[in-house]
Amino acid sequence: MGNIPLILKALDFAAHKHRDQRRKNVEASPYINHPIELARVLSNEGGFISSELLCAALLHDTVEDTKTTEEELLELFGEGITRIVMEVSDDKTKTKAERKRLQIVHASKISHHAKLVKLADKICNLRDMVHSPPTNWSLERRREYFDWSKQVVDQMRGTHAELEALFDAAYAQRP
Ligand code: NDP
Ligand code: ZN
Repeated sequence: MGNIPLILKALDFAAHKHRDQRRKNVEASPYINHPIELARVLSNEGGFISSELLCAALLHDTVEDTKTTEEELLELFGEGITRIVMEVSDDKTKTKAERKRLQIVHASKISHHAKLVKLADKICNLRDMVHSPPTNWSLERRREYFDWSKQVVDQMRGTHAELEALFDAAYAQRP
């Protein structure tokens, strides 16, 4: 049974941290919808009930996209969850092109739980890219995004057959 109080604490924390952010789609959806969707995919579609995994999914973009620090996560959520979040966070001191390249290089080297979060992130972002894409992205740019995502996921093959199949189904919608 998952630790529901901890999961709700992570949801509350992430909602607060992302409160002023919006997704890049035309509706400008509240950013928190995306981490919630990751947790939903992992639990409802992947069958996972691990609190550590679901909390990491809810928190996965807090360090990369808000002022949240590793120390803050350590104090509130402990080492296991914090390590996963740090493993899936890009180093913002690097250029965007370098961050994209490093995701491909690092994907095979991260922990099992970090790979599951990353797989869910790529599934959700490709689905968004089809149903509510970033405004003003050209066809070419969306295609490049699909191909880069696949390059990352191809480094994590053998992690979880069902999630990989969900990714492949999302990739099959490549515009
Ligand atoms: P990003 O790759 O950072 O934008 C995509 C990210 O935005 C996703 O990974 C997702 O990240 C988040 N996101 C927010 N809203 C949505 C949504 N509705 N659907 C899907 N994802 C969403 O794009 P950048 O602008 O940073 O550019 C990155 C790269 O693209 C650079 O390397 C640059 O060189 C290249 N580029 C290509 C262009 C082209 O026309 N081909 C033009 C400009 C740049 P998260 O999970 O973190 O929310
Ligand atoms: Zn994300």
